[in-house]
Amino acid sequence: MIIPYDENNIFAKILRGEIPSHKLYEDAGTYAFMDVMPQGQGHCLAITKAPFRNILDVDQSSLSAVISTTQKLARAVKAAFSADGVTIIQFNEPAAGQTVFHLHFHIIPRFDGVALKP
Ligand code: 5GP
Repeated sequence: MIIPYDENNIFAKILRGEIPSHKLYEDAGTYAFMDVMPQGQGHCLAITKAPFRNILDVDQSSLSAVISTTQKLARAVKAAFSADGVTIIQFNEPAAGQTVFHLHFHIIPRFDGVALKP
């Protein structure tokens, strides 16, 4: 069953400019910004501009666009923070840990021997 998109989720409000965000990148179909509660230095998020709840309802073209932005961000933050690696995480539905119901990818720079904050 596909669950309807909720226009009042936090990322929809960020896209509408109703709450502030630290913008890192934007193009026609995607937006990227810093995570407000980072699990590590440089933790940021890439989202679609179109209203998808998660990977279960997104179309191929929008998914491709947000993955492309995720790759751009991964390369940029790895270089900017001189990281040793980058973790990409993506959750779908509460059972999997999703808390904001607008499709997003986490991009987290990683450093040898440093664990993520819980
Ligand atoms: P999820 O668990 O849904 O994959 O992650 C949602 C992410 O959104 C979390 O990492 C959380 O810190 C982040 N987040 C929640 N509210 C806000 C907000 O108002 N602004 C920003 N920039 N990030 C947020």
